[in-house]
Amino acid sequence: MDMLFAPPPPVLAATSDGRLFPVRRLFCIGRNYAAHAREMGMDDRDPPFFFTKWAEAVVPTGATIAYPPMTADFHYEAELVVAIGAAGRNIEAARALEHVHGYATGLDMTRRDVQFEARDKGRPWDAAKNFEQAAPLGLIHAAADVGHSTTGRIALTVNGDTRQDGDLAELIWTVPEVIAHISRYYALQPGDLIYTGTPAGVGAVTTGDTLVVSIDGLSDCTVTIGPAAV
Ligand code: MN
Repeated sequence: MDMLFAPPPPVLAATSDGRLFPVRRLFCIGRNYAAHAREMGMDDRDPPFFFTKWAEAVVPTGATIAYPPMTADFHYEAELVVAIGAAGRNIEAARALEHVHGYATGLDMTRRDVQFEARDKGRPWDAAKNFEQAAPLGLIHAAADVGHSTTGRIALTVNGDTRQDGDLAELIWTVPEVIAHISRYYALQPGDLIYTGTPAGVGAVTTGDTLVVSIDGLSDCTVTIGPAAV
């Protein structure tokens, strides 16, 4: 039968060893560093929660991303990204790392003004979090090469100035706990990415800014903010 229009191309993330990781879905953990939870005005002992983004929100490191419409407060959030390599539902935390292919640096770009309005009105976060180019991603490093880090610096610079400077040891909910939690709601699949939350120091960007996310042992994720989307 005739196809009415061309299907979208697959979203393919690059790995550090020159292969392609087909991206399936994005899960993002909220408020997973105590200092960031406090700067958002929240208690840091809340149970984990997550939201989702479309795979097509992924853009590779090195990209220039458009300043999105419908916001005047476009924020960066530097995050450790977990790349799922094996399917599973109701995964036990003790065995969760068996489902991890690898790790990358990434950014959970956010329309902060839209998020706060949604939060205050008890509305969904979709328009605040899930939009074109909202999920920059560095190269994916295989856990077989880099291990499963539970400590290490996570930092973000804007035009060379350090704005976020935390440590993976500060994660409230660890990578295995996050995988276990999400897998109680969804059958995780190869290609799923989990953005694990951001340390304190989030802030606004403007056209022309260059953001660099660095995490010990992983390659950087670098993006430049371009002009408004047209
Ligand atoms: Mn985030």
